[in-house]
Amino acid sequence: MRGTEWVCAAVLAAMAGCGPTIPSDAVDCEHGMPRQCEAEALVWNQMFREEARPPPVEWVRGVPCRTNAAYMCVPEREALGVHWNDPEWIELAEDRTDPTRISGSAYAHELMHAHLRRKYADSDIDHKRAEWGLYENGFWQHISEINQQLESDGM
Ligand SMILES: [Zn+2]
Repeated sequence: MRGTEWVCAAVLAAMAGCGPTIPSDAVDCEHGMPRQCEAEALVWNQMFREEARPPPVEWVRGVPCRTNAAYMCVPEREALGVHWNDPEWIELAEDRTDPTRISGSAYAHELMHAHLRRKYADSDIDHKRAEWGLYENGFWQHISEINQQLESDGM
């Protein structure tokens, strides 16, 4: 149906595509936060043993979370970050520090979803898999350990 495709592309090009599209401000690590490429090398390549490129990351201005105002959430979502599928990208709230500390964001958490999606063809939205570790005081043990490593490395 070449004609249908053309109509879709032509009509919707002005409305940013024929379905969900990756936001233009979702970028690779070189265009993200300072030292994000170092964080990517540590978490994505070294810890998760991923070789293909990770999903692009969109940093958005955070708003205080409703359940814990010490944290900044993605606007209109009670979460520090969101892992989007099809197309895949990661949305992360900037925190109150300037620049945002990657260790204090949901960077490692959302990368874990992307890692699990590649490993099992399922991003494990319910956090059931062992890779997360134990859930303690609102945090997943293995994600906390990764963030402690990032923090001790100054990220
Ligand atoms: Zn999650």
